[in-house]
Amino acid sequence: FAEISVKDINELARSSFPLCMRHLFEKLKEDHHLKHGGRMQLGLFLKGVGLKLDDALMFWKAEFSQKVSAERFDKEYAYGIRHNYGREGKRTDYTPYSCQKIILSTPGVGDHHGCPYRHFSDENLRAALSKMGVNSRAVEDVMDKVRNRHYQLACTLTFEAVHASSCDSGINHPNQYFSDSQKLLQ
Ligand code: SF4
Repeated sequence: FAEISVKDINELARSSFPLCMRHLFEKLKEDHHLKHGGRMQLGLFLKGVGLKLDDALMFWKAEFSQKVSAERFDKEYAYGIRHNYGREGKRTDYTPYSCQKIILSTPGVGDHHGCPYRHFSDENLRAALSKMGVNSRAVEDVMDKVRNRHYQLACTLTFEAVHASSCDSGINHPNQYFSDSQKLLQ
C-alpha cells in the first residue's frame, strides 16, 4: 500500500486527482479553509491515497493556520482529522467516500464537496474541464453524459481524455481514479 508525503500532494493533485478532489484541494489552497463536508471528503480521500495521520495533521495545519491560530487549529480541527483516522471517538477507521455517496451529497452555499459533474453549473464545469486539459471535443462528450445524468461516465471520459488511455472499468471511486491514474503514469 503506497504512502505519500505532504510535499507530493501538489504534484499528485495535478496529475492524478479526480475533479472533485482537485476542486477541494484548490479551494483549500485559495481559502485556507474548508467546511466540514469538504474536510471529510478530501481528508478521507487523502488517507486512502496513503497520507499518514501525522502528515495529514501537518498538511491541514499548514493551510488552516494561515487563517486561524495554531492553538485554534489544534482545538477545533485536529480532533476531526484524528477522528477520520480512527484515533478518537468510537475509533472507527473511516473509509473514503465512493462516487455514489459523493454524487448523492447535497453541498450548500460555501461548500466545495460533492461531485462537480453533478453539482457544478455547466459554465463552471466547462471551465474546470478545460483547466484539466480536456480538449473541446471531449468536453462536449462529457457535457452530453452530464445532461443524461451519467456523472460517473462523464468522469470516466475525463479520465480517458486526460490520460489519453481507455478506462474500461469506469470510475466508481475517487481513490480508484487515483490508483488507475498512477498505474498509467508509473
Ligand atoms: Fe469524484 Fe466520482 Fe464525481 Fe469523479 S464521478 S468527480 S471521482 S465523485
